[in-house]
Amino acid sequence: AKIITDVVCPFCGTLCDDLEVKVSDDGKEILEVYNACVIGTEKFLHSQAEDRLTVPMKQDEEGNWNEVSIDEAVDYTAQMLCNAKKPLMYGWSSTNCEAQSAGHEIAELCGAVVDNTATVCHGTTLIAVQDVGVPSCTLGEVKNRADRIVFWGCNPAHAHPRHMSRYSIFPRGFFTGKGHKARKMVVVDPRSTDTAKMADLHMQIEQGRDYELLSALRVAIRGNPLPETVAGIPRETIQDVAETLKSGRFVVIFFGMGVTQSLSKNHNIDIAIALTRDLNDYTKAAIMPMRGHYNVTGSGQVLGWQFGFPFCVDLSRGFARYNPGDSTSNDLLRRGEVDAVFVLGSDPGAHFPISSVKKIAQLPSVCVDPHYTPTSAVCKLHMPTAFVGVEEGGCAYRMDNVPIETRKVVEPPEGMLSDEGFLERVLARVKEIKGVA
Ligand code: SF4
Repeated sequence: AKIITDVVCPFCGTLCDDLEVKVSDDGKEILEVYNACVIGTEKFLHSQAEDRLTVPMKQDEEGNWNEVSIDEAVDYTAQMLCNAKKPLMYGWSSTNCEAQSAGHEIAELCGAVVDNTATVCHGTTLIAVQDVGVPSCTLGEVKNRADRIVFWGCNPAHAHPRHMSRYSIFPRGFFTGKGHKARKMVVVDPRSTDTAKMADLHMQIEQGRDYELLSALRVAIRGNPLPETVAGIPRETIQDVAETLKSGRFVVIFFGMGVTQSLSKNHNIDIAIALTRDLNDYTKAAIMPMRGHYNVTGSGQVLGWQFGFPFCVDLSRGFARYNPGDSTSNDLLRRGEVDAVFVLGSDPGAHFPISSVKKIAQLPSVCVDPHYTPTSAVCKLHMPTAFVGVEEGGCAYRMDNVPIETRKVVEPPEGMLSDEGFLERVLARVKEIKGVA
């Protein structure tokens, strides 16, 4: 057996790059995974599952699944995208930037809408950043400098298990030699989560009242008077948190879907950014979204540099349009405005509202995923591919927008294509059908 070092975990936006993987001498089997959290370890070990699907499957009229060849899968996908007036190409967050780029070329040729998982996650953050800008930093700066950490509406103890040990709470950095002993941790969450239980200060806010509490913190930071309670939090606690943040050398506010998808949505983030800006009058402060899928940040980057917008890009008129609330996946599905659905690197069948999932089930549809997922179950074709970061390398962006090259540690099953490989085949077939050189 041999050990491969500096392996990158392709699961969450923390994108840990210090994994070690023990593989068999023939390079085909993963024997052990070191340093990863339990979720990351499972991602590697699942690629070895004996019941893993290795051939494309297509549903017939009666709903029975039948094996088809890769050529047939490529042709079905290309025909579906070419015949549709306005196909939706959704997902992209659990694959590499190379595959994203190949997919966008198909989308441009077919006049598709390209949307990623930010549409139900940090899309509101992206809107706020476009509105007011963002003072942010890298996770390396957090590790080396930050001594005041806020987790607002997120639960890294479960969703990003190594975030606190690698970057934010526990590690000893260049200017943070005492590790967690010199850091203060503030958690804002209506629930008493496992992250909240570790906090020095937990503000158990009333559900959906984030905007008010963020406003109150801005008031408290300036030393202006407050009402007795705001969002269920006593005045003294808010003042205490304001003083804790002001007295730090470097404050970082991490935030998650508890604040991006609750009442006020992007306006919550506008004001959280304003709070960060205010704190910079007293100390140094930065803010960062806790991005979920390991390369959702990369999807925004690639869409951004190719089309100018980070999600819900509508190419159906031959040029890029961006209109969240109109060109976002669930709005398009609910209004019945798309006539084919292609999903890669995400599982809307598990995470979209049931009304949207029912719409996908009625349309010509393709799911590309190493696993057979709830999305596969409602699609007409399931195309299994290699695991990026396990059986295929490629670029991914960490939650702080730092690009990291993932590593291939084992060979995929014989004959299995990568996401990029499949998309390149579809692109070639689309060009053939459309008579494009
Ligand atoms: Fe993988 Fe995230 Fe766990 Fe790191 S914290 S090992 S990136 S799942």
